[in-house]
Amino acid sequence: MVYNVTLIPGDGTGPEITEATKRVVEATGVKIKWEEVECGEGAMKKHGTPLPPYVLDSIRKNKVALKGPITTPIGTGFRSVNVALRHELDLYACLRPCKSYPGVRSKYKDIDLVVVRENTEDLYLGIEFAPGSEEAKAIRGFSKGKIKESAAISIKPISPEASKKIVKFAFDYAVGHKRKKVTAICKANIMKFTDGLFYDAAREVARQYSGRVEYEERLIDNMCMQLVQKPELYDVLVLPNLYGDILSDLCAGLVGGLGVAPGANFGDNGALFEAVHGSAPKYTGQNKVNPTAVILSAQLMLEHLGETEAAAKLERAVADVIREGKRVTYDLGGTAGTSQMGDAIIEKLAKAKQPVH
Ligand code: NAD
Repeated sequence: MVYNVTLIPGDGTGPEITEATKRVVEATGVKIKWEEVECGEGAMKKHGTPLPPYVLDSIRKNKVALKGPITTPIGTGFRSVNVALRHELDLYACLRPCKSYPGVRSKYKDIDLVVVRENTEDLYLGIEFAPGSEEAKAIRGFSKGKIKESAAISIKPISPEASKKIVKFAFDYAVGHKRKKVTAICKANIMKFTDGLFYDAAREVARQYSGRVEYEERLIDNMCMQLVQKPELYDVLVLPNLYGDILSDLCAGLVGGLGVAPGANFGDNGALFEAVHGSAPKYTGQNKVNPTAVILSAQLMLEHLGETEAAAKLERAVADVIREGKRVTYDLGGTAGTSQMGDAIIEKLAKAKQPVH
């Protein structure tokens, strides 16, 4: 079987990393027909938009995409293409497994956490009003003077539909991957309506899994400390969008940093696989950064395609290369470049294919 997959090389170091990843995936033996499309800075220059419609059409058609990181200029320029892709394709669930691999420098070992982040609402909807705008004035009126006249305002919508959907995703993931516990995390003691609603939705869903998967709740501030002190107590974590974004970076830090943190975004009609890290623009063209996070995202993609054996083989090959530490990138204490680390993983995959005598 040949799978059609949309490939977005991305900006900055993205093209170097996705090139190495493509070769590694091909070395697993899984047949993939890559449909390469451009979005981000390059597309902006060529087409006047960072997200041309053909990119969305390609992903809608193929239903699976692998993406390199895309640069979002701060303050000016276009809004985040990453956020727009998730929104346009209704990729409501963001999955970020954080696992320790021996050989990665970290203060912790044996971490095995999965962060499930809601992707479609919360402060990421981008409903923001500038200071002094008519909307800001109107909202200030409702606040009975609590909001300063000089303040900018962002709106945080949280719906029961999206909250139940993401919590159900987390529980289904837990059941499918033999996980024991789901922890719902927010700040409901302060945001009683929005985050309170998230907890209500989570409790309703949790009841349907009672006896199969344990359920508990934590406040986000406490959770940050708990994860630093006792990460072994946790398993699958489910959060609204903004808290999920922040906590997944914290969890990436527990396992040794962004270079080894993969991710996936799922919707009812498609899935997009990408690393947690950004385009690391200062290293562009230097063949320097770690391809592991995108390669492990591709491993999640193989699992999603039902190629579980190839996915497991790929993870073992990555783990072996990291454990040996001979051909790894600078962030893992080595001197190998992006493509050389890819080559090392390909060699491990080739050896795994040879019969054992
Ligand atoms: P970044 O993740 O690109 O880089 C921060 C630092 O982390 C780098 O300078 C580097 O030291 C290290 N790093 C990141 N990836 C690495 C890798 N693969 N190997 C080794 N070291 C690595 O974060 P940033 O500098 O804040 O963001 C750069 C751009 O990426 C911004 O425009 C941002 O908006 C964008 N971004 C995109 C995505 C995405 O496409 N999903 C995610 C996050 C940030």
